[in-house]
Amino acid sequence: MSVEVRDGRIHWIGSASQWQGNRATIRVVDGRARTLIPGLMDCHVHYSSPGGPEWIARFTDPLPEISMRAIELAETSLRSGVTTARDVGAPYGVSIRLARAARAGEIRAPNIRAAGTWIAHRGTYVSFARLFEETDELRNAIKTEIESGADLIKVALAGWNEGVRPQDAPDIPFDKKLLVVAVDEAHKAGFKIACHANDPTSCRIAAHAGVDSLEHGMFLEAQDLEAMAKNKTYLVPTMSVWDAMLYYARAIDWPEARKKRAEDLRQGSRAAVTAAVKAGVKIALGTDAGGGAARHGRIAREAELMVECGMEPHHALIAATSSAAALIGESERGTIEEGKIADLVLLDANPLENIGALDSETYGGPGGI
Ligand SMILES: [Zn+2]
Repeated sequence: MSVEVRDGRIHWIGSASQWQGNRATIRVVDGRARTLIPGLMDCHVHYSSPGGPEWIARFTDPLPEISMRAIELAETSLRSGVTTARDVGAPYGVSIRLARAARAGEIRAPNIRAAGTWIAHRGTYVSFARLFEETDELRNAIKTEIESGADLIKVALAGWNEGVRPQDAPDIPFDKKLLVVAVDEAHKAGFKIACHANDPTSCRIAAHAGVDSLEHGMFLEAQDLEAMAKNKTYLVPTMSVWDAMLYYARAIDWPEARKKRAEDLRQGSRAAVTAAVKAGVKIALGTDAGGGAARHGRIAREAELMVECGMEPHHALIAATSSAAALIGESERGTIEEGKIADLVLLDANPLENIGALDSETYGGPGGI
């Protein structure tokens, strides 16, 4: 098959012998014995942090450090075949500025869709999120993100931070009632809403609230998955994070309890993916590079993990291309079709035979955990 690109768009697809154009006026990229795929999409990254064992502390680095690093990491990501990324949370809204620079062609980076800053209930999650307590404050937080230039809304459901839980308060203060308010506010403004949930109660709340995507989502049970399939909520499993955590647990000898937690989360997320596939839940690929221990430029690992959990290689590829495009709202990318943006990656091997073909190390990109 041959693909003709004109002015950045796919103009024609067909057998080379059928092509009518003038060879003298075009540049030919020889793809023989190679495989052309749509540009890869990572639906869950944080370019403001490099990942690694101290990933949370890195979000509190000085702003100039975070900004410069974000530019470098976005380029690392691009070189690994990621042409579109959803940056789902950065301190100071750095991702919004990064997305704008990418759009303007000022930096070498993927096409970036940025949530501004995480929105979380006060007393939970990280202190550098945008924090709220009451309904009005939540609505205002979402409006502020939109006014700041965010492309989507990111909320985080989480338990109380140590020692701050008020008496008689529920485990998860960002409850279903508040989450429905957030979904309503985002959707009313025409924005998608991504929801972080990585404990059983948060997963249950998020699965039933009609969010566009549930991020992480270990501990999803049958009735949660059923609700997600019904609500057309995507699961973005981010399995790479637990693998990376286990790597560091062993490499720098974390305490036993922390190692055990990483192992439990890894098991939980694998089981959730296998069950989600069976339940017909849509899956979009996300690595959580930077937002956990996983580093940038390793999208192939997430696809490999999907295959390990029972997804066919072509389903893992769909999760990283057309399914991700549908979640992100990129109707002009994610498939190789005439008229679409020529957002393409040429691989040395066929990922349908071996999903490891997505690994940029095979074509000289960055490696390592
Ligand atoms: Zn994240």
